[in-house]
Amino acid sequence: MELWVTEMQTKDLTIGCRVAKTLHYEETPYQKLAVVDTHQFGRMLLLDSIIQTTIADEFVYHEMITHVGLNTLPNPRRVLVIGGGDGGSIREIIKHKSVEKATLVEIDGKVVEAAKKYLPEISCALDDPRVEVLVADGIRHVKEHKNTYDMIVVDSTDPIGPAEGLFGAAFYKDVHDALTGDGIFVAQTESPFFNRDLIPRIYKDVSGIFPVTRLFLGNVPTYPGGLWSFTMGSKKHDPLKVDISKLPDLNTRYYSPEIHRTCFVLPPFVQELLK
Ligand code: SAM
Repeated sequence: MELWVTEMQTKDLTIGCRVAKTLHYEETPYQKLAVVDTHQFGRMLLLDSIIQTTIADEFVYHEMITHVGLNTLPNPRRVLVIGGGDGGSIREIIKHKSVEKATLVEIDGKVVEAAKKYLPEISCALDDPRVEVLVADGIRHVKEHKNTYDMIVVDSTDPIGPAEGLFGAAFYKDVHDALTGDGIFVAQTESPFFNRDLIPRIYKDVSGIFPVTRLFLGNVPTYPGGLWSFTMGSKKHDPLKVDISKLPDLNTRYYSPEIHRTCFVLPPFVQELLK
């Protein structure tokens, strides 16, 4: 019998993948968690039937949400990831030699457990001695940690349920205060095709708090529309002023020094959103 997973990407659009094997399903206190093996993308993590990450395309998202910000800073030492229980962002962050400690604050410990068991290629750095994993609410964590992190990555689910507060101005203010003097934060901010109200709202909120605000793009085939946005708020450093000839080789498959520059080149329809 053929089995398919179907995500409702909008109320009028689905993405469907043929399933080779269902590896795990459970209802956690926060969400319905599934790991399936698919023919097209390999193993896939779904939360509440929404694709979070797949073996085939995770590198794009995880490299972009981390390296663009980290390579904008001269010497990032302490880094926080909010959400990101699959561990992909942490795996990329610890490639940076200057990073002494990377803290993951994931609200749902079951996501971390499932990623360790079924997605070792993504979660492989979670047991690194430089990594601390806390099962807690990221909204509360940033409120309680002022002036602590050089970079904060908001690797969240969509803006519903426990992640809703991770997309609001009050949270961005707390993120600002949790950053050190020249800190940077980067958040995944959804699709320029399908989230045309959310992206300008976030951009405006972040611009009201951070002196440097930038939107950049990457292509993640399993996310709605493929084209995906990230918003950066920086206290001091401008990613466009980085000398890309001096960037370290991080053994990446999507991010590169050239991508560091070109990811900020926005098509006119995306520029329109930010006006
Ligand atoms: N790359 C993904 C995407 O854009 O679809 C995000 C993946 S990651 C698995 C998202 C994680 O954010 C989930 O595991 C979820 O439990 C976590 N999360 C949601 N709200 C949170 C909160 N308030 N604090 C910490 N983690 C949260």
